[in-house]
Amino acid sequence: MLAGAMMADLLTVQNLRKAFKVSANRPGAAKQLLKAVDGVSFELKTGETLGLVGESGCGKSTIGKLLLRLIEPDEGVICFDGQTITGMPKREMTAMRREMQIIFQDPYSSLNPRMRVGDIIGEPLVVHGLARGKEIREQVLTLMKKVGLAPEHYDRYPHEFSGGQRQRIGIARTLAVQPRLVVADEPVSALDLSIQAQIVNLLKDLQQEFGLTYLFISHDLGVIEHICDRVAVMYLGRIVELADVEQLYKQPRHPYTEALLNSVPVPDPQHVRQHQILSGEIPSPINPPEGCHFHPRCPYAQEICRQEYPKLTEQIEGHQAACHFSDEVGRFKI
Ligand code: SF4
Repeated sequence: MLAGAMMADLLTVQNLRKAFKVSANRPGAAKQLLKAVDGVSFELKTGETLGLVGESGCGKSTIGKLLLRLIEPDEGVICFDGQTITGMPKREMTAMRREMQIIFQDPYSSLNPRMRVGDIIGEPLVVHGLARGKEIREQVLTLMKKVGLAPEHYDRYPHEFSGGQRQRIGIARTLAVQPRLVVADEPVSALDLSIQAQIVNLLKDLQQEFGLTYLFISHDLGVIEHICDRVAVMYLGRIVELADVEQLYKQPRHPYTEALLNSVPVPDPQHVRQHQILSGEIPSPINPPEGCHFHPRCPYAQEICRQEYPKLTEQIEGHQAACHFSDEVGRFKI
């Protein structure tokens, strides 16, 4: 987490867009455009953790893949450490990707079941020429220790590990190339609650030790609160609110954020929510509602909301929201 003085931007993203062609549900009909990411801008400061939160299908994982150019954006500019990486030739991008790594929700699918754990973690060291001979084993054992794996795990295979341990293997492999930016895409969503806390604490410790910068993608505001400095809330491909974590949890300025916060379970049987949980289906990003995309689900909606999309604007210092009536948020206790 960030401490003290304001740090420089490690990553800036301007007006990022990505649409996918999807099959229509009628035979013979033309393909339709699904706007997964629709004009997203933000910056990430060195050493901070920015959370990206929203319901499934809001575009947050697509942003993670766009940042590393695992998929190509349609529009927009991504700068990493002062260099524009959108349009960067493949060879330069491959070298750059050493500094930008991703951790996935299900590490098992990315761990070769026929390789021993030591070889899996050591593979990036070999590929990038960072170690050779005996050094590889030494560095792998050091990494394993850092993530809480024992030396005797070196010769075991991925199927011999629990979900939490497999995530530790994935994290060790990510760290092997000494990245500066880590995109963590739902890294604890598939784990039991107690294991989630262990992995979140491990990620925080590693951030301190290695000065890592995280983009932490999650649908779970409870997890986001524990690890992030700032949070960007996404709805249908756009950021609708962005603020410091404390500010956003204390006083959200977008009704969607308010509803998400009120749907976080409270571990207290005496606490009965008076508020309704966010109702209604998330609309299709192929054909989002006119005006503010959230208006069919929003209790604050008025006529202007059905006509004009509200711009993301700074409401108070460092707190942006895209809502025509952000001053009223909290009135309905949704
Ligand atoms: Fe609700 Fe209107 Fe604000 Fe959209 S702009 S979130 S519909 S009040």
